[in-house]
Amino acid sequence: MESTLTARDRVGVQDFVLLENYTSEAAFIENLRRRFGEKLIYTYIGSVLVSVNPYKDLEIYSKAHMERYRGVSFYEISPHIYAVSDNTYRAMRTERRDQCILISGESGAGKTEASKKILQYYATTCPVTDHMSTIRDRLLQSNPVLEAFGNAKTLRNDNSSRFGKYMDVQFDFRGAPIGGHILNYLLEKSRVVHQNHGERNFHIFYQLLEGGEQDQLSKLGLERNAQKYHYLVKGCCPRVSSINDKNDWKTVRKALTVIGFHEEEDLLNIIASVLHLGNTQFGEGEDGETQITTEPQLTYLSKLLGVDGAALREALTHKKLTAKGEEMISPLSFEQAVAARDALAKAVYGRAFTWLVAKINQSLAFKDEMYNSSKGSSSVIGLLDIYGFEVFQHNSFEQFCINYCNEKLQQLFIKLTLKSEQEEYEAEGITWEPVKYFDNKIICDLVEEKHKGFISILDEECLRPGEPSDISFLEKLEDTLGGHAHFVTHKLANGKTRKAVGREEFRLIHYAGEVNYTVNGELANQSVNSITVICQSDNQILSQCFHREEVTTQKRPETAATQFKNSLAKLIEILMSKEPSYVRCIKPNEAKQSGRFDEALVRHQVKYLGLMENLRVRRAGFAYRRRYEAFLQRYKSLCPGTWPNWQGRLADGVATLVQHLGYKPEEYKLGKTKIFIRFPKTLFTTEDALEA
Ligand code: ATP
Ligand code: MG
Repeated sequence: MESTLTARDRVGVQDFVLLENYTSEAAFIENLRRRFGEKLIYTYIGSVLVSVNPYKDLEIYSKAHMERYRGVSFYEISPHIYAVSDNTYRAMRTERRDQCILISGESGAGKTEASKKILQYYATTCPVTDHMSTIRDRLLQSNPVLEAFGNAKTLRNDNSSRFGKYMDVQFDFRGAPIGGHILNYLLEKSRVVHQNHGERNFHIFYQLLEGGEQDQLSKLGLERNAQKYHYLVKGCCPRVSSINDKNDWKTVRKALTVIGFHEEEDLLNIIASVLHLGNTQFGEGEDGETQITTEPQLTYLSKLLGVDGAALREALTHKKLTAKGEEMISPLSFEQAVAARDALAKAVYGRAFTWLVAKINQSLAFKDEMYNSSKGSSSVIGLLDIYGFEVFQHNSFEQFCINYCNEKLQQLFIKLTLKSEQEEYEAEGITWEPVKYFDNKIICDLVEEKHKGFISILDEECLRPGEPSDISFLEKLEDTLGGHAHFVTHKLANGKTRKAVGREEFRLIHYAGEVNYTVNGELANQSVNSITVICQSDNQILSQCFHREEVTTQKRPETAATQFKNSLAKLIEILMSKEPSYVRCIKPNEAKQSGRFDEALVRHQVKYLGLMENLRVRRAGFAYRRRYEAFLQRYKSLCPGTWPNWQGRLADGVATLVQHLGYKPEEYKLGKTKIFIRFPKTLFTTEDALEA
């Protein structure tokens, strides 16, 4: 424990529950700042780990460090991601209960790095036999593949995950990793066709162009120059100093081999086809109709996508309409053709990504016949690395989904934290004192309630006959949700206009703050015509991703919002069935620089992550609790009655000890197996006595 008085002044407390003034946000941030200044990036709130991104290699992740945390209790050693990894692992082994680690924080805060460190910890410290080393390697190698296809350089993070990820690691009865499974959420597909200034498309495109062999590129009809591809130049950012695309390409190729991947040619064809789609241009023909003006692109596309050229041409320039049971073909306008092309590129890439995840899952799947001995007695640790709360200048449907997801996770967090606190008090026979907190269920309901929630209204608008309209959608929202305390539009009750919310916007008051969302083209019906043509593809991957039934059935497909709502509900169910641990990541500055701690930025995140609320709940009753044997072991030398060894019941030993130390009755309570101490200063005085 880092806790002599002088050290405490210098490095702060290693657990926020020990803060004297635990309701003060300023004290909270000061504690973080001090520790960060001392390169102590980890601090607890009880069992929640708070981590501040150091933006440099601190050399605290060696094998020796891993060993130091093995089998050691949380409180005996300085906070670390390995302590969380190890405690979770031991809880799984001893209690035989599935665990999960929820990692949250804004972009660039260090979530993905944290999840990789946890995985490395298990890969290094868990027992492994020959058979299992294959699974272990595949678990580790799934990361570079998913990052190549799902991560991109953004303004906030050079390696930003543009999808949410939940990964189960399965362990057998000996505690060895025997399998895994990944669920992916909401890939940011818009990035395939557009990037903001200073940002890039997904890494894989640049990796292929930089690292691919010359004859490979020729076969794909590609040039080794990212500047040539419209989908790669929107952000004016072909190269990033922290990224070596050529080396990363090699890493990805190797990883694909470890995973046992055989469809490489088809996959490369898909990547290349997206680039060719981006370079497919349109113009006006003599008949005034939109036509493709880049013939070579069309030739490559039909070859790479494995579809008929004429059918593809038609799909990109015409749409099929069904009127009175009759099919009609009508030409697309220039803008519609561009939109159809982009929609196709996004669909192809997005589905190939989902396919890739499924492929990795096959390779990680627990193969019963290999491990007969461990049948039926495996347990799981789940790792959730998912986007944090997002607020931009312009917030669209994507931010809406991300923030809704964060509301759901906050709801889960509140439920589980309060529940586990309450359960602990009950188990220890100590009276529970109710805690006041903000329950964000009201916001979750606003989004997802049947018939009158946001998503229901969106579905209704998308499913009604005719073209869905943004304005009529906004009006319906207003009619249904107008009076809701967490929903605001530009209309004021007195008929006047609220300036802070635009006419095409609505505002949600989230638990973490207010966000304006723009309803702009979100509802535009995507032409499914271009997707029909892909259903006939003889590319092995595409033929598995696109099914004829989708376009032949009369039923309208589920909206993206409903799909997301359902996948979130499933995720929450999975998490609820496990015992959770939390890692909360914080980004110390926007410049990605080491040693800089921007207080205003950190304050924001402390708020969004709900850390003060978390601390309040944790501190509501008692600041500190420790099992009797651990408490006695640490402080027995302070009392002649307990030194050198207490022979009687542990509870009596602790009672003797605290009486000798002069604890007042209001300062502590003795439970069945633990002592609960109300104020940090009681503990500090005892700690200081140890040092004296
Ligand atoms: P996003 O939501 O954009 O995916 P993230 O929270 O996953 O962001 P990471 O990719 O994990 O962020 O971290 C961003 C960068 O910060 C890393 O590429 C690395 O340079 C640095 N970083 C993060 N954690 C650590 C750490 N523990 N030690 C050193 N550097 C780190
Ligand atoms: Mg990430």
